[in-house]
Amino acid sequence: MTPSLSAKDAPDLSLVVPMYNEEAAIASFFKAVRPVLDQIGLPYEIVCVNDGSRDATLAALTGIARKDARVRVIDLTRNFGKEAALTAGLDLARGRAVIPIDADLQEPPELIALMVKHWQEGYDVVLARRSERRSDTALKRGSARLFYRFLRVMSDVEIPENVGDFRLMDRAVVDALRRLPERSRFMKGLFAWLGFRQITVDFVRPARQDGSSKFRFRKLMQLATEGIVSFSTVPLRMWSYVGFAVAAGALIFMLYIIFDTIFFGRDTPGFATLATVLLFFNGLVMINLGIIGEYLARIFTEVKARPIYLVRDEIQFSEEPAEEKVT
Ligand code: UDP
Ligand code: MG
Repeated sequence: MTPSLSAKDAPDLSLVVPMYNEEAAIASFFKAVRPVLDQIGLPYEIVCVNDGSRDATLAALTGIARKDARVRVIDLTRNFGKEAALTAGLDLARGRAVIPIDADLQEPPELIALMVKHWQEGYDVVLARRSERRSDTALKRGSARLFYRFLRVMSDVEIPENVGDFRLMDRAVVDALRRLPERSRFMKGLFAWLGFRQITVDFVRPARQDGSSKFRFRKLMQLATEGIVSFSTVPLRMWSYVGFAVAAGALIFMLYIIFDTIFFGRDTPGFATLATVLLFFNGLVMINLGIIGEYLARIFTEVKARPIYLVRDEIQFSEEPAEEKVT
């Protein structure tokens, strides 16, 4: 009769919310999320990860946590990026099912009820898929589509299209995820690598309600490179084929020049050809070096084995301190 602390305290559901400069969004987030969770009726916690916000996010969260023991605030030492913040939240969440969700309500909390239903039916992962991205700009939509198509061709695991981090994961899935040690947290890829019994539910992605998007074009490019390089060795391997093809072509060209010289005499105007060939091959070599560099950089960060995030403080107020003593 000595249940482990976590088993006794463990809520059924954990919501994990990475937050970076979200002071404008916090109030409406909790206003939207609480009724949904109350309606489901299972014990829950809301794990908010403050990813080094420069605004009043932490103060706002602390204020909410003070009034609600189910709200836990994980304060990171600086801005580590969404993927790291999410990792922190998943590590510290205690629920039997864990749901990462953005703070900006672009992922409708109403969907959680349906996710929980599927979970109770026995699914380990319930994916939420955006059925359309009308609220995104045409550029973001187009580049996203291109990226997914490219990724699908390149990588060994099937990374589902238009699926974000919004999903429900059983405790077993979260524990499995925590066993993946890599520093490069391309979450979509890591999630896909895990497998498990999955089901997908669709939703329409609304526009961000308050505050502004925290991702800039450069960040997205980084994320795309991360996704491809972390989940595919094709960019490394294809160069042997390209090299082979180019070398074969060069050989044929060489034979042609030899015969041409023997039978038709020396040809002086060959400078243009030479320069073109030279530039072309130099280009190939540089691309190749760049790609090797990408992988090398990954190896470098992995070898350093730094923690993915650092926690400065964990804030949770207990509602009924009297009950804590009953163990
Ligand atoms: N976020 C974070 N750290 C960052 C950037 C973003 O924790 O460095 C959080 C942000 O607060 C939000 C979620 O990640 O809860 C998604 O960010 P955003 O809505 O800006 O991205 P978008 O929806 O535009 O892809
Ligand atoms: Mg958003």
